[in-house]
Amino acid sequence: MSVKQEDLLRDMQKCFNLIKAEENTRESFIQRERDDSIDIRCTEFPDSQEEIRKIVRAGWLEKTPPKGGKIYKRRWVQLDSEYLRYFQNTKEMYSKRMVSLECVDKVVSVGDLRFELHSQSRTFLFRADNTQERNDWVCCLEKVLSDRRHSLGPRNLFFKHGTVCISFEGYMEMMSPRTIVYALIGRDRLYLFRNREEYLLGVGITDIDMRTASVKDRENKRSFTLTTPYRTFSFLVNSESEKTVWSESLNECVSRSLSCDGVCESVWRVAANRICADCRAPKPEWASINLCVLLCEKCAGVHRSLGQSVSKVRSLKLDERVWTEDLIRVFLLLGNAKANQFWGANVPPSENLCMNASNEERLQHINAKYQHGKYRKYHTLFGQQEALNKALCSAVQSADLLETLSLLHCGADVNCQTGVPEFPTPLTLAKHSGQTTQVELLMQNLKTVSSGSVVKDVFIQSQCGYLFKTASSARPITDHKSKADFSQRWCSVGDGVFSYYKNEQSNTRCGGMKTSEIICLAVNSPGKHGYEHTFELYSEEGRVYLFGADDVSIVRNWIRAFAMAVLPPALFDVCGTCDRLGRLRCAEGSHGIGWFCLSGFRLHVLLEETVQTIDLRKLLTLTLSNSAGSMVLLWRGGPLHLLADRRPHLVGWQTCIQQKSGAGDQSLYQQQLTEVGVPVTIERCLDHVTRCGLLSSGIYRKSGTNSHITRLLERFQSDARSVTWSESDYSVDDVANTLKRFLREVKDGVFNGQQNSESWLKAAGLEDASERLKTYQILLSNLPDVNRETLRVLIHHLLCVQHLSDENHMTIRNLGIVLGPTLFQTDGTDTKPSQVVEELIQNYCSVFNVSESDIQRQLKMISVILNKHKSQRTMNRTPSSTICGVYLQEIKEGAEVLIQVGVDMTAVKLVSMVLELKGIQQTDEEFWSCYEILESEEMERTLHHQEKVLPLYFSIGTHCHLLIKKNQYVTSIMRYLEHKENVSKCGLLRVCEVKSERSRSFCNRHCELSGTTFRLHRELQGSQCEKEWPVKELRVYNGYRSKLHSPTLWGLTLVHDSQQWYLCCENEDELIEWTATFFSIQHNGDIYPPLLVKQPQCS
Ligand SMILES: [Zn+2]
Repeated sequence: MSVKQEDLLRDMQKCFNLIKAEENTRESFIQRERDDSIDIRCTEFPDSQEEIRKIVRAGWLEKTPPKGGKIYKRRWVQLDSEYLRYFQNTKEMYSKRMVSLECVDKVVSVGDLRFELHSQSRTFLFRADNTQERNDWVCCLEKVLSDRRHSLGPRNLFFKHGTVCISFEGYMEMMSPRTIVYALIGRDRLYLFRNREEYLLGVGITDIDMRTASVKDRENKRSFTLTTPYRTFSFLVNSESEKTVWSESLNECVSRSLSCDGVCESVWRVAANRICADCRAPKPEWASINLCVLLCEKCAGVHRSLGQSVSKVRSLKLDERVWTEDLIRVFLLLGNAKANQFWGANVPPSENLCMNASNEERLQHINAKYQHGKYRKYHTLFGQQEALNKALCSAVQSADLLETLSLLHCGADVNCQTGVPEFPTPLTLAKHSGQTTQVELLMQNLKTVSSGSVVKDVFIQSQCGYLFKTASSARPITDHKSKADFSQRWCSVGDGVFSYYKNEQSNTRCGGMKTSEIICLAVNSPGKHGYEHTFELYSEEGRVYLFGADDVSIVRNWIRAFAMAVLPPALFDVCGTCDRLGRLRCAEGSHGIGWFCLSGFRLHVLLEETVQTIDLRKLLTLTLSNSAGSMVLLWRGGPLHLLADRRPHLVGWQTCIQQKSGAGDQSLYQQQLTEVGVPVTIERCLDHVTRCGLLSSGIYRKSGTNSHITRLLERFQSDARSVTWSESDYSVDDVANTLKRFLREVKDGVFNGQQNSESWLKAAGLEDASERLKTYQILLSNLPDVNRETLRVLIHHLLCVQHLSDENHMTIRNLGIVLGPTLFQTDGTDTKPSQVVEELIQNYCSVFNVSESDIQRQLKMISVILNKHKSQRTMNRTPSSTICGVYLQEIKEGAEVLIQVGVDMTAVKLVSMVLELKGIQQTDEEFWSCYEILESEEMERTLHHQEKVLPLYFSIGTHCHLLIKKNQYVTSIMRYLEHKENVSKCGLLRVCEVKSERSRSFCNRHCELSGTTFRLHRELQGSQCEKEWPVKELRVYNGYRSKLHSPTLWGLTLVHDSQQWYLCCENEDELIEWTATFFSIQHNGDIYPPLLVKQPQCS
């Protein structure tokens, strides 16, 4: 007989025996069910049964004594909508009996205390402590029974829902207590019956929830175990092949049971997991997978801030792939209740965290709890490294996860030597022992900085895990890489080294580098390559490495870990979410190195010891040298020179910086900005209109030349900073319309999108005016900074325009009609946009919170603005007419008079206009002149009465003003010149040539002013002329710089091109004589208006 035949025979024999046994039990069925059920004791007890089954009623009842006995047995009885179960006691997880309510026909009261359940085959008798309790049970049972819906057709007496999915069933031998059971694998449970007959009759022993179970092989070829949190079941089957079928079917059941619920539903099945482990907030959707606690969103945020090395935070809902069956099981077995037995064993009531705690309190508590292990239950072996390690090796081979957690976080070394050559680490030991949950727990804690370890530097960042990688390249990666180009690698960074391996188990490195050799990390935009999220590493040698993964949180963690590993600590605060980081050669840093971190529009630069933050949108200039590859960023902090570097990372830096420095085709906030945060395009246009167009009739209403507008706008869009133009290129209407077109076309508009625009228009419809304004203010405060500031600048400008509406004819109403649809980007059929703009101009002060007097002053200062612009740009052509600011009597705030000045306006006309405007009568004794005042009134020049004001006005700088005041020398000068036939003068003067600010050496020179020439001689007459100038080319000022410390107060300053000479007179009379002579010669004797000249004669 062959071995196979022998086996077969034995199997047949066994089968025969089983059938016989089944028939025997059937024989023994009696009318009344006796309590001789199997007792399946738990080694661990559940926290509460209520959360597992929806129990309708539970209580102590007495059960019929076993066959031949007389004593009733007290049993804990539970009723739910499907089964009546009874247990040895309240704590047991596995029932002695479960009776399906499907098989119960009726419930009958017997006597005062008892009741019976009647099924087809038998009755179950129970006795309550009193009649009331009995009646309550009967009532409850009747209600549950009445809720049943019997379907027609063949009925399953055990399962409520008729048809059930049974994947496998058969007899097995249970080892403890030793008995034959009929087992049946359902959807997510294993049901045990005494035999098949009882299954068919609807009466079982117990059911085992497979969501927390795991199946393990045993040494014996025919046996296997089923481990649950509460006890371990061992089963013996007839053959090895049968065992294979059973374990496969049971494993399938485990997977099925876990996958039919979401991760949340699975882990929340344990009550303690339904509240945050730290603050007790309900429904925690996050978990720290190494600390084994479930967390609310707020606490998870704090955990995340501790860093990956302390707490690995994952979402139950978002990070689905992390949640393997084993990890879910760890959370069911440990979960918040047990993990807190360790982590929170010693929390004093005063330091308890409540769900309304502030972020500060939360951080403090969580930091103390996990980073420092302040409240943990110290392991008895704490401090004894060797003993801890040994205990760990032993624990990982058992089912005791809490012990492992406690050891790991009390100082046991997760990578300690086990002393077993085949299984050198605790991890390999756990794997060998088949403790899959232990394996999972160890894996999650492999790189954790243990709170028991000495080093607690929060900056130590390490990270490991799988990433996908392409082959490295010597050039920037420009082409799209598909998923096929990537291969999976186990990567780790920490302790100054980045390495990658073929897989987690592999000990041989595929490659890597020192983190000090990483010169740049660049984050790609999502979807650039086959993997959604990718980043590039650039090595010092000039190689480019591309890594990626689909999960954004994984990639973010890596970027953070690399930032910590690559950048100096001074930049840690700013490198949270960055697009690019690394080091670059630059002219400014010490050793020619600067550290950079680009985050959105902000470039954080570490030079020497200081971190500076440059808003790239506000750069003053950005200069790229294509051939050399260098780059100069000029910002208000000065220039920054990035030096050429042949390695591939520089190109990316240049592109990035250029992109982030503002783009003309984007929203307002993405444009190139001025220092106050207004788009450069808008500021340049407003400047130009303010300077040249405030008096232009129909400004903003008149159209410009379309081709000009298009060209100018294109230039602004390509690089607003670099746009300059002369007034002959574009008319003021071209510029005004360029501004309008920009505002009409800019993405999202000034009011930041359709939806917000509608809110403004809705506000315009409010009846009550004050409510309208209040709503405008609220809407204004809701705008992004750039939009709000842009709107303020625009409305301020329009206020200035309407202020001069007598000249330009643009009243508030006209401006509203023209600019309303432009700002709201509408077609003009609706009148509300115009209304909003009108009301904003009218109520500029209250809406933008500006004081009225400030505005009045600002309106007066328009001329000063004009002056400033003049000094900054050279004009090719003066405008035909503009507004000038002229001071009256003295130069001080409030003494300025605004006046329209045409091209032909003379000084004398200007004086009479200003005096008329101010209501000042010129008397015979007074003569008013216009002066050019230089350098804080230290020097002044009297304008000739026929001198044209406008060209002068546009040629003077910002330190120069026009002043109209009484001319104190007019009578003296006229008297001196009155009787002179040939005006000339000679004399000794102390002269100083200004070569530098400090030169103050005055020398005696013989000066000669005759004809049309001014000469200097070293010696008295006859000697050779040292210096000479044509008088008409000189500008002659009274006074000189006080810094010169001149010998007397009376002097003249001569300006010729860039040369300046000072002439010091002995007294005031001498000064008047020289001044009169210069003035007379320069103007051919025509020194004062004719009317005035006569006056002294008349007097
Ligand atoms: Zn919480």
